[in-house]
Amino acid sequence: MQKFMLSWVLALFLSEGIAQSPGLKLVDNFLRDNYPSLDKLYKYLHQNPELSLQEEKTSTIIASELEGLGFEVIRKLGSHGLAGIYRNGKGPTVLIRTDMDALPVEEKTGLPYASKVKAINAAGNETHVMHACGHDLHMTVFAGTARILVKAKDQWKGTLVMVAQSAEETGQGADLMFKAGLYNKIPKPDYAIALHDNPNLEAGKLGYREGAFLAGVDMVDMTVFGEGGHGAAPHTTRDPIVLSAQMIMDFQTVVSREINPLEPAVVTVGSIQGGTVHNIIPDEVKLQLTLRFYSEEVRNQIIAALHRISKNLALAAGLPIEKIPVIKVRDPYIPATINDISLTKRVVDVFSKNFGKDNVVEMPLYMFGEDFSRFGMQDVKVPILMFWLGAVDPAKVKSAREKGEQLPSLHSPLFAPLTEPAIKTGVRAMVVASFELFGKS
Ligand code: ZN
Ligand code: ZN
Repeated sequence: MQKFMLSWVLALFLSEGIAQSPGLKLVDNFLRDNYPSLDKLYKYLHQNPELSLQEEKTSTIIASELEGLGFEVIRKLGSHGLAGIYRNGKGPTVLIRTDMDALPVEEKTGLPYASKVKAINAAGNETHVMHACGHDLHMTVFAGTARILVKAKDQWKGTLVMVAQSAEETGQGADLMFKAGLYNKIPKPDYAIALHDNPNLEAGKLGYREGAFLAGVDMVDMTVFGEGGHGAAPHTTRDPIVLSAQMIMDFQTVVSREINPLEPAVVTVGSIQGGTVHNIIPDEVKLQLTLRFYSEEVRNQIIAALHRISKNLALAAGLPIEKIPVIKVRDPYIPATINDISLTKRVVDVFSKNFGKDNVVEMPLYMFGEDFSRFGMQDVKVPILMFWLGAVDPAKVKSAREKGEQLPSLHSPLFAPLTEPAIKTGVRAMVVASFELFGKS
């Protein structure tokens, strides 16, 4: 009987696969009493979004939050970026990063706390603003994690560094922080971790990938020149619109014919602008492209192909060498985000033990980009890990799968995360990961 009982208990334990750490119990006790204040913070951030490089109010809130908890805070570290340092004895240094910026999107979720904010963008135009990428969710999880780790400071040893960066969406924020000397101004991290909400993963779940996680990104501005004239006399011109059309078609062969098919890559022409009216052939056409890749080699190969194709098509159209297209690759670019394999294994293992294997999902590779990659690319090699935080109502995920429909993506005016389980899961995950990395099981 006793033997039967023992194997029954063991079977139950194994089938669940869950062995919750003391850290998790602590989080759950905290969340039971304090979730309403996190919900309030989330709604405030959601209703007060700020565009990239304009995160003044947002960064003040985050800085005050950390200072209130006893962190030493360094402000204005790369635009509105900031770092909070909490020294808690001898032990590893763990860096947790959030982003703070919102997007020029008009919210159409119909939620009672939907954003109605408008702001002036970098080009001087008025635009709606929305946290359509969920950076408000990231900041709320970040605040909850800081509160709990400070409250439980007698249970871990080491240095906690909490970094909030501006301008993730434009790929500038992390670069600006490192240009401002981030890693010289904080203790060198032994690990850097971050999360991003995922619009296809159920709230309550976490997603991961070892190694390659998110793509590298380039934004390319291209000017195609021609020789304009009357639309009725094309033989007296060199038409840059026809030339651009040829280039756009030939760019489609870069990925399909030149890049190794086993290497992920994208060349998208997202904008073409030229001409004013029906009967005038213009002097120039402007193109905007985005490139995606996972290696520097592929990146260089794509950029070289764009130069080669555009130059030779311009020459073939009879243009002189001075009128070959000008290609500007915007600086900074976003390097690919490559998760450290042993760090990922370690954290995923502790996630699986705490939340159950079914709730920790291996995710596909995406071609989106994230400048969190830069945290692992400095001279001092810091192992990094970014993981996905499920953000969507599980009922919506189920119904979309059954009907073969797409859920609103990140950056969509309809993106509406299911906040409570997503925030709670994010805080639980970050605290459990921190305890693991600080060396407390
Ligand atoms: Zn985004
Ligand atoms: Zn984002």
